[in-house]
Order: sequence, then C-alpha cells, then structure tokens
Amino acid sequence: MNIGLYIPHPQNSSLPLFPLQFLAQSKMAANNGVAKEGGLIVSFGEMLIDFVPTVSGVSLAEAPGFLKAPGGAPANVAIAVSRLGGKSAFVGKLGDDEFGHMLAGILKENGVSGEGINFDKGARTALAFVTLKADGDREFMFYRNPSADMLLTPDELNLELIRSAKVFHYGSISLIVEPCRSAHLKAMEVAKDAGALLSYDPNLRLPLWPSPEEAREQIMSIWDKAEVIKVSDNELEFLTGNNKIDDECAMSLWHPNLKLLLVTLGDKGCNYYTKHFHGTIGAFAVKAVDTTGAGDSFVGALLTKLVDDHSVLEDEGKLRELLRFSCACGAITTTKKGAIPALPSVSEVHTFLDASHN
Ligand code: ADP
Repeated sequence: MNIGLYIPHPQNSSLPLFPLQFLAQSKMAANNGVAKEGGLIVSFGEMLIDFVPTVSGVSLAEAPGFLKAPGGAPANVAIAVSRLGGKSAFVGKLGDDEFGHMLAGILKENGVSGEGINFDKGARTALAFVTLKADGDREFMFYRNPSADMLLTPDELNLELIRSAKVFHYGSISLIVEPCRSAHLKAMEVAKDAGALLSYDPNLRLPLWPSPEEAREQIMSIWDKAEVIKVSDNELEFLTGNNKIDDECAMSLWHPNLKLLLVTLGDKGCNYYTKHFHGTIGAFAVKAVDTTGAGDSFVGALLTKLVDDHSVLEDEGKLRELLRFSCACGAITTTKKGAIPALPSVSEVHTFLDASHN
C-alpha cells in the first residue's frame, strides 16, 4: 500500500544517496527542453519532507540518521505533470525556512510554476519522520504543530492563477484544519466558477485526522463537487465500509456530477467507471522497490492528457489507451526509491511501453 510517505523496505539493506539521485533527475527534467504546451493544471495542497532512516527495519529512536525525501501528494502530481511535458502550478504554503525554500526550488527545477506558493514567517515547513520497523509496524512522527501548509488563508490565494486553471486538482489533507480548509474550499469554488475541471484524490492519511469518522465525513463533504475522482482500493474500503472491492461497491460512490471514477489497485492495475461504460486495465509487471508516489504519477499522467482532450471521458477506446499510459507511469514510479525521483518523462514511458507486452 502506498501511504504517500517514503518508507524504506526491510529487504532494502541500503538506501541510495537520495539527494544526488534527485538532483540528477530534476536537472534532467529542467534541461530536457520539453515545450510546455496545453492547459494549466493547478494542484492545491501540501508539500513536505519525509525523513526516512538511513538504514532499514529500525524504529525512529534507533535510526542512526535520516535522509530527506520531498513529497506531499499534490506537489508530486504537479511535478508528474511537468515531467510529462504538461503545464502545472502548485498552490500551497511553505515555511519561510531552509526547507521551505528547498521545496520551492525543487518545484522550480522541475518546471512547476511557483506563483501560487506562499511562505509563512512564523510556522515551519511540515516534516514527517517515518519508518517501517523490522516487525512490519509503521512508525510516524509528524511536525505539524501547526506547520506552514495548515496556515494558508483564503486571502493569500493567487486567484488569478487559480482562475487560469483548466484542471484544478486537490486532496483531503488540506481539509483537516482551518484556515487551510477555508482556503481549499474557496480555491475550489473559484476554479470551478472559472470553468476548471475539478479532480480529487482524497489520499487518506488517517494518522493526521482526529478520528476515522471525522476523516470520512470531511472527505465526503466535498465529494459531489469533483468531476474526476481517483481512490485506491484501501480508500474505497474505508469510505464505503465494505471490504468487497467490486463494481457495486465503487458505484455506491457515484454522484451525478461525476464524469470519471477510478479505483487504483496497486499491482492489479485500475478499474474505471463513467456514466456510459466501465472496465479494468491490468497493471504492468515490474520489480517494485517502493510504491510511494505511484498513485500521484498515475493521476499526473491522466490529467496531463485529459486537460486538453475531454473526449476521453466519452470514448472508451481513448480512455483505455490513456489509462494504459497512466498505469505505465504508476508502474515505472514503483521501480525506484522515493516519489519525486521516480516520476517518469514521456520518453521513459514510451521506452517502457515499447518494451512491454501488455
Ligand atoms: P496509490 O499510490 O494511490 O495507492 P496505487 O498503489 O494503486 O495507488 O498505484 C497507482 C497505479 O500505479 C496502479 O493503478 C498501477 O497501475 C500502478 N502500480 C502501483 N503499484 C504497482 C506495482 N507493484 N506493479 C505495477 N504497477 C503498479
């Protein structure tokens, strides 16, 4: 399961030199000369740093050191879009500190517009210390007391940028506390009024919510606004209270404004549902080393194509082709450690697809 935080696997005896690998990737993305064409995808929400132990299978207290892994699902999606040649912007708040400026730099290096980023003078950039212990238990420690992302106010939103979005994408972590929740609701409304397609990936992070009931209630409170929704199988189970992941269960989440519902199934691919048709796309067989960011990569790929061609929502053949591309992006992302370093470029996806027999 991808919980959106980079978790070292106990079988991975050593971790790569993450910052070096990351820099190499981001420079490549910045220099690959991809012309940014098409409609703007604005991704709203949190960007943070996961700190992961330098060795696997230890508790946070036992860890001899930590590596920085930049993340946050909405930021990952913005970078995924840009790597694939699409135009994207990130809207959110970072601390006016070394880490906040480092994260803004990563977005910039990856060709993501930072016009919607605010910096908080008082609060720090969010951090999450996370490990997978030898016994398989996950251990988290969040530094959000509060963190800058939680303090974004409606007045700080760059409304001009949001109004220029053709797709407005968001998650649910930004709904957890005020004032960010009001900023989220306002941004969504402004984007919608300006004609953007609303795309929602709840990205359930239970440890951040006061209770599971509150998480369910708040996630569902904006459910019927989105026209495209992507949930994982675990989220489908959580939101419906039904552990049978089938079409009936998925369709119980359908609402009249919805144009596309996607249920991603990890190494089993994804199920898609529209008003007129539904089906399954199988996953690509890969040697997965870290599934963090697979869902964000999948969503980024979907939105990059969808932003300029809504006909995929009506044409099952076209949609299947697009979802095959999205599944390829998800699969490629699982083959490298970390989320951002593993997000593919278009040429990587084409090479992967040419070599695959799916
Ligand atoms: P999330 O990260 O949101 O939980 P998933 O883990 O379901 O989402 O991954 C999104 C997509 O990435 C899947 O639909 C699938 O196409 C691809 N994917 C994820 N894990 C694997 C895997 N182990 N092998 C191949 N493809 C994968």
